[in-house]
Amino acid sequence: MGLALDLARRAAALGEVPVGAVVLDAAGHLLATGHNRTILDRDPTAHAEVVALRAAARSLDNYRLTGARLYVTLEPCAMCLGAMFHARLAEIVYGAPDPKTGACGGVVDLSAQPRLNHHARVRGGVRAQACGDLLRDFFRARREAARVARGLAAPETVSGGHPAAPPFFQDDPSMPKQKSDSAAPSRPAPGGEHTHLVCDDPECGVHHVHEQPSGIYLISPSGAVADPASLDLAMERLRAMGFRVAADRTALAVHERFAGTDKQRLAGIQRALKQKHPVVMATRGGYGLSRLLPHIDWRAVADSGKTFLGQSDFTVFNLALLARTGAVSLAGPTAIFDFGGKKVDDLTQALFQETLSGELEILSFESPGADPVDARGILWGGNLAMVASLVGTPYLPDVKGGILFLEDVSEHPFRIERMLTQLWHAGVLEKQHAIVLGQFTDYRLAPHDNGYDLDSVVRWLRQTVRVPVVTGLPYGHVKVKATLPVGARVGIATEDGMAHLVLREHTH
Ligand SMILES: [Zn+2]
Repeated sequence: MGLALDLARRAAALGEVPVGAVVLDAAGHLLATGHNRTILDRDPTAHAEVVALRAAARSLDNYRLTGARLYVTLEPCAMCLGAMFHARLAEIVYGAPDPKTGACGGVVDLSAQPRLNHHARVRGGVRAQACGDLLRDFFRARREAARVARGLAAPETVSGGHPAAPPFFQDDPSMPKQKSDSAAPSRPAPGGEHTHLVCDDPECGVHHVHEQPSGIYLISPSGAVADPASLDLAMERLRAMGFRVAADRTALAVHERFAGTDKQRLAGIQRALKQKHPVVMATRGGYGLSRLLPHIDWRAVADSGKTFLGQSDFTVFNLALLARTGAVSLAGPTAIFDFGGKKVDDLTQALFQETLSGELEILSFESPGADPVDARGILWGGNLAMVASLVGTPYLPDVKGGILFLEDVSEHPFRIERMLTQLWHAGVLEKQHAIVLGQFTDYRLAPHDNGYDLDSVVRWLRQTVRVPVVTGLPYGHVKVKATLPVGARVGIATEDGMAHLVLREHTH
C-alpha cells in the first residue's frame, strides 16, 4: 500500500486524482503499477486499477491474472471491480472508502453478489487515513486553485482538459446567485470521477456556515471621485452582496485632484473610526494619503477595531498602520474600480467576501518557474511605488522574515527595477523570506529597450537578491484580485508551477 500511495502522489503531481494501484503475482512479486490517468489519456476508463491490470496482463501475456493481488488507495468503482473479477484476482485490498462510487460496500457491494460468476477476497480500510488524506489535500488545493485559475488562466492549463468549475461557487448558499455565470451544475468538476469526495469532505468549504456579511463604510482619503454615479453603482452592488453600506459625507468632495482638502479627508477617516460599520473601504486610490500620514491617529485607528481596506495609494495607509501599531488591515478591492464599473469580477467578489468572513484559507495561483519556497512570515507590501516612497520614513514597517508582495501600474519595467533597487539598497528585500510579485500592467516598451522587459527585471531580481521570488499573485491594478491581510502571519509554498499562500492555518 506504501507503493500505491507513492503512485497516488505521482498522480496528484500530474494533476490527476491521487489514486494509485499495485498488482502482485501469486508469489507476491511486483507485477505492475498504475495511477489515475483519465485526464492525461483522455480516457474515462483509465482508473489506477485498470491501468495496473492492463500492464500486469501485458507483462504476463495473459488477461487472466490468476492468484494475483491488487492494492489500491481508494475503494474500487463498479467498473474497476468488474475488471478485477474478470482478471481472476485472488485478493483486492483497498485504502479509503468511497461512499459515492465504491462498489465494495460504499454504494453497492458487488463483492457480495453471489450471482456473479467470479469473485475475489476484498479487504478495505488499509492505511485508510493516509489514502483519504491524500485525496482530501488534493481536492482542497484543487478547489483553491480552481477559483483562482478561473480568473487567471485557460482552464486546461490548470485542470488538464476539464473545465475548472469550482464546486463551492455553485453550491454555496451564501453566495449571491445573480452574477455567477459559472453556475452550471452539469459541468464536470475538475479531476473527473472521484470528485464527489469534495462534497463529502467535512472540511469542504461548501458546508461551512459563513458569517453573515455586515456593514461597509466608504471614505475617499485620496483622489477625487470623478463620476458620482460609479459610487452609487458600487454601493448598490455591495448591498446586493448583503452588506449594509454608507458613504462618508465627504466621499464625493473635490479639492484640486483630491477628494476634498486634507482637513476634510482626515475628518472622513476620523468619522470612519466612530461610525458603526466594521469595514472601512476606500472609494478609490489616486494620490493623497502620503500627505496625511503624520496627522492620522494610528493608535485610534488600531483601537477602533475597524477593518480598513483599499489599494494603490492606500498602500501607505496599510503600511503606516502596521509600522506604527502592528495592526492588520486589508489590501484589496476599492469601491469604484472593483464594484463601480460595468462588470464585477466574480472571483474578486468571492475572494473579497471569503476573506472578510475569514473563510479563505489558501490562495493558490499559477506561478510558472517559481523559486522553491516553504516559509512563513508577516505578509506586507502593496503598490511598489508607494512602498518605495516610504523608505527612510517612520511609516515603512521594519518586517524581518516577511512575505513581501508588490504590484504596480503604468510603470515601465526599468522604473519597476529602479524601485526594486531602492528597496534592495535599503536592505528591505534581503530581509524577506519571499518576494511575491503581483501584476505589473499598462506600461509600454520602447524599441530601444532591445528586448529588455518585465521578465528581464524578474531575472535580474532573482540573480541579485538571495530571496525566493514568486510570480503570478492575482493582485494589482487588474480585475481579478485577491483581498490580502497586510500585517498578518501567513505561509507561502510553491510546487509544480503553483504557489499557495496560506492565509489561515487549518483548524480542523
Ligand atoms: Zn474505478
